[in-house]
Amino acid sequence: MTDVKELLENYGIDKFLAYVGAEHIRKVGDSYRSCCPIHKGNNSSAFSYHNGYFTCFSECNRNFSAIDIIMNVFHISYSQAKKRLEKILGQEIDSTDDSTDMTFEHLANRQFISDYKRIKGGEKSHIVENFIFLNTQEYKEITHEYLINEGFNDDTRKFFDLRFCEKGIMKDRIIIPIDNPDGKILGIAGRSIHDFRWLELTGESKYFFSKGLKKSATLYNISRADIYDNFIIVVEGYKSIWRLHDWGFDNAVALMGAHLSDRQAQLLLHLDVPILVSGDNDKAGKSLQKEVVTKLSKYVPVEQFPIEKIAKNESDSIAEIKKEDFAHWTNKLMGKYPSRILF
Ligand SMILES: [Zn+2]
Repeated sequence: MTDVKELLENYGIDKFLAYVGAEHIRKVGDSYRSCCPIHKGNNSSAFSYHNGYFTCFSECNRNFSAIDIIMNVFHISYSQAKKRLEKILGQEIDSTDDSTDMTFEHLANRQFISDYKRIKGGEKSHIVENFIFLNTQEYKEITHEYLINEGFNDDTRKFFDLRFCEKGIMKDRIIIPIDNPDGKILGIAGRSIHDFRWLELTGESKYFFSKGLKKSATLYNISRADIYDNFIIVVEGYKSIWRLHDWGFDNAVALMGAHLSDRQAQLLLHLDVPILVSGDNDKAGKSLQKEVVTKLSKYVPVEQFPIEKIAKNESDSIAEIKKEDFAHWTNKLMGKYPSRILF
């Protein structure tokens, strides 16, 4: 396989940038900076080459491969751009080099971009300002019947600081504070206490979220979970987290949906422990498990919880199965991974 990064660096990043018409090219440490050759403009720090990646931090706000840049600058197709690059570099390139698969480098580079933006006071940082409970008087610290019917008690409610809202936009909802890795509250999710028939009739959603909450920027329970144990359990929903806590498993986080965002993938990789993923007992849950395996099993072991062998109903989650079944399968799947030595 040809290494485009090496070929390009041997050719000269500055020469390549000049070829695509970038202005104010200069070397900064191991990186290069210039105006963006794609959207143009006169910000001479907008465009960066760093460790194999070209990035426009300004208007384009994305990464580019060398071929991407040629395509965009000369308005030509992928195959034409590839040929041009091969001519410049004097060597054929495997198309696999331009793979759009997510790699750790992609993740690391995105982190680099978001860190850069945060430092520069950019607008799209994943660090959201702390959410403030504006309606505290409306969020009652009571263990609502909904929670009791679901098998939770007052201790569970207190542990997760769950509230109940009696009026306003979150009326008749269980208030769930969403934490970030530092334990700060980014916002709230409001889970309706009504069943699916009622929701269908009224057209209301099962969940409401506080304004500005980006679920994909965090993992529910991450602030409590990341200090524990030798593996991490990844589930879809809040209820599974509460159930696992009641069973004594606090090494669990929820994606708050059936997708794994890049940021969530990063947070999981940061824990650097094997993963036990359990989607709900439905199609979305299965495809989530596949997504987690595809994205993360290159870096950490990923085991899939066989919910379909245990759950009685479609869409059941860990919250609906028996503790013994969970413990049995978890032991079977995760027992082979060594415990971390704690000092
Ligand atoms: Zn640009």
